Amino acid sequence: MNRDRLLARFLQYVQIDTTAREETDDYPSSPGQLELGRLLVEELTASGIRDARQDRHGVVLATVPGTVDAVPVIAFCAHLDTSPETSGCGVNPQVIEEYAGGDIVLPADTTQVIRTSENRDLERLVGCTIITSDGTTLLGADDKAGVAVIMQAAGWLVEHPEIRHGPIRICFTCDEEIGRGVDKLDLAQIGAVACYTLDGQGSDTIDVETFSADLAVVTIGGVNIHPSIAKGRMTNAIRAAADFVERLPRDRLSPETTEDREGFLHPYEIGGGVAEVKLRIILRDFETAALERQAELLRSAAAESMSKFPEAKIAVAVKPQYRNMAGGLATEPRAVAYAERALKRLGRTCRQTIVRGGTDGSRLTELGLPTPNLSAGQHTPHSPLEWACLDEMVDSARWLAALAEVWAQ
Ligand SMILES: [Zn+2]
Repeated sequence: MNRDRLLARFLQYVQIDTTAREETDDYPSSPGQLELGRLLVEELTASGIRDARQDRHGVVLATVPGTVDAVPVIAFCAHLDTSPETSGCGVNPQVIEEYAGGDIVLPADTTQVIRTSENRDLERLVGCTIITSDGTTLLGADDKAGVAVIMQAAGWLVEHPEIRHGPIRICFTCDEEIGRGVDKLDLAQIGAVACYTLDGQGSDTIDVETFSADLAVVTIGGVNIHPSIAKGRMTNAIRAAADFVERLPRDRLSPETTEDREGFLHPYEIGGGVAEVKLRIILRDFETAALERQAELLRSAAAESMSKFPEAKIAVAVKPQYRNMAGGLATEPRAVAYAERALKRLGRTCRQTIVRGGTDGSRLTELGLPTPNLSAGQHTPHSPLEWACLDEMVDSARWLAALAEVWAQ
């Protein structure tokens, strides 16, 4: 694997602003995603892949043709967008060759420090190549590390026809960060028995479980009237909303107080006035059934608030977002087993991990395409302190090439 080429790809991709924008219904939500997609199609075509294309939604699809017959199609997938939580405009990547250890101060905003105490992985990466932003933006390794790794592995397989593998479908999606990554995907076009997202942190890990997730929108209707004549007549939705939120657990079932396999419900957005307040609350747990108990908790809090504010109308609407992939992965045990075997062939050991969130793979698995998530060298995503390790990205690209071979055996 050519390290310099992988690095050059990655540095080029992160400098294209592909920040997802939740406030628009456009698909994709930002033009940079189309620009990056076009570039990838050009590169794939130049490498000799004939069917590389960008569909009308901006999704990039391509196939590395198989070198042997009768091997099932597998797919590699990554997302083009970056998180709206931190700006991805004007990313100025910093490459630290032969990282010497210690904290990393980011040059354009020296208050931004990547500390070893908060990034334990840095200890084992002394001597490696680390890439950061300049501190004023995110880096975008989530998920351009995954994009670069897949591009590198695809190029490698094309250049090495002696490697025995089946057809490899490549897929780059848009707007994963705002929950729309799979909205415009046609599973029939992917036509694979298993898919791998390259969107995991660090190295040598397979995410085999994600949260199950629902979104609750709570609408609190009050009675508005001029405050001068409000006595006995006004019902202030803001006060009812405060009462409602106060009834939700804080010392448990909140993101601030939970970890590992513990779920939570999380009010993350509020807006409105005296007449109406809307609250958005995410419900999360590894056990899908627990989401119903969380919704019940919201409904009983609503009932209690309504008995205190008899004129207030509180409606709780819950809709599903994505589901834990564990059940779906069990239907195609080769997906995880072969990824483990491929890593073992490279002399490395695999860790199975769980994600306190979702991936494109959660939705894909739910739709019938088993899709575990593989590590691609990204760290501390969605923040100016995001960083990536080139050596881990090279390892991930090798992993994909080995995985293609394992499926052909
Ligand atoms: Zn991601």
